[in-house]
Amino acid sequence: MNYPRFLEQIHADIGPWLEKGRVADYIPELANVPLKTFGMAIVTMAGDVFRVGDADYRFSIQSISKLFACAMAFGLVGDSLWLRVGREPSGTAFNSLVQLESENGKPRNPFINAGALVVSDILCRRFVSAENAFVEFMRRLSGDKTIDYDLRVAESELRHSHRNYAMAHFMASFGNMNMPVEVVINAYSRQCAVAMSCVELAKAALFLGNQGIVPSTGERVIDETSAKRLSALMLTCGTYDAVGDFVYRVGLPAKSGVGGGIVAVLPGEMAACVWSPGLDNYGNSLAGVVALERLTTLTGRSLF
Ligand code: GLN
Repeated sequence: MNYPRFLEQIHADIGPWLEKGRVADYIPELANVPLKTFGMAIVTMAGDVFRVGDADYRFSIQSISKLFACAMAFGLVGDSLWLRVGREPSGTAFNSLVQLESENGKPRNPFINAGALVVSDILCRRFVSAENAFVEFMRRLSGDKTIDYDLRVAESELRHSHRNYAMAHFMASFGNMNMPVEVVINAYSRQCAVAMSCVELAKAALFLGNQGIVPSTGERVIDETSAKRLSALMLTCGTYDAVGDFVYRVGLPAKSGVGGGIVAVLPGEMAACVWSPGLDNYGNSLAGVVALERLTTLTGRSLF
């Protein structure tokens, strides 16, 4: 597979799309990132790394963290996770509150904010510092000990967390929060504020396409069935209420974040990560979706 040529081609074609999106500004610190940046990396199961553009620039992973936090929680509590969080696409925005009341405080899935807050609650219960455990986990998966969260981004989000507080308190009223809401929101905001590059995120996601094992170290992260199930959840819920369109166009399980990153996995072959901070109306990187669509078109490889 001539990944270098495909990446070069995508990079050359992506220019016009970089101006079309809008940088997330509801977390003020994220609005400082220049709009017209683009990076993309592919890491194969064999460990080959291909990159283009700003693929080594560390950006705010935001909701991509929900995938890895869910892997941690799923590994810890197994199927009992599903007593507290569903696994259906929500069809509503990632930060929407509307379903929570009619569904008795049980979020639709772990990849929308409400579901990720339940996951954070589980991690806060298990670890003295859930955010440090999360950072440690990301360091292990990507093999880079310098990965950390960006305190400025975390604090910027914390000052504008009214919706997340509302969701967490609402779920607490249904008995679906065990730890104090402030503790959970704090850990969640720091987890979202972890800064990683495309190369690091692609490396970190490889275990999902490799039966739960990190290919470079042989470390088992989760069992084979859980890896398969998490990948299925990414496919059906990973890009919010645009997931149908995303899977139609790209054909890969993926997880996006409002920092402009999207990580995608082709089981048995590779993980890809793209970053471009201009978002579409659903909160997914506009150029990022186009780039991944181009990738699966050029390579002729997707799930289907
Ligand atoms: N930290 C962000 C929030 O809670 C993450 C949202 C996202 O990336 N979609 O709003």
